[in-house]
Amino acid sequence: MRRAIYPGSFDPLTNGHLDVIARAARLFDEVVVAVARNSQKSGTFAPARRVELIETAIRDAGLPETIRATHFEGLLVDFARDNNAVAIVRGLRAVSDFEFEFQMALMNRKLQPKVETIFLMPHDEYIYLSSRLVKEIASYGGEIADFVPACVAEALAGLRD
Ligand code: ADP
Repeated sequence: MRRAIYPGSFDPLTNGHLDVIARAARLFDEVVVAVARNSQKSGTFAPARRVELIETAIRDAGLPETIRATHFEGLLVDFARDNNAVAIVRGLRAVSDFEFEFQMALMNRKLQPKVETIFLMPHDEYIYLSSRLVKEIASYGGEIADFVPACVAEALAGLRD
């Protein structure tokens, strides 16, 4: 039973995240998408809402039932250990992601040598996507249907009402 954790803010989930989730699901028996509760920033959507949106998007996309979503607090490596995960999955979009991800992966390895970090690249049409940009476009009423699952587009539209 090989379980992977895909951690992040997912505030909110984009099609780039969904693409990484689908790829991870082909590699692991179980994938846990883990929304990090950040004590420093509250975020646009509450963690529980982000989890709901991830669950709905996974179901709507017809992705395998071996994927689940939850949120967690504290150190990622502790969460990974408590869940018997063999890997942490992260998405790499561009060289600009690399330095930060490299540092995190090595620090996490130092803290918990048994958990391997693996990087997956999304389809190239999602390379330029980020939650931040999508939120900015949505806040000005721009079209975001190509960038996020329908449930997320609806949730973002709801913020403007
Ligand atoms: P952060 O942890 O920096 O808040 P996010 O929560 O947005 O990042 O994303 C979680 C993970 O998904 C990170 O590894 C990030 O690099 C990756 N990611 C974000 N957007 C995309 C995308 N469009 N394609 C592939 N991976 C992505």
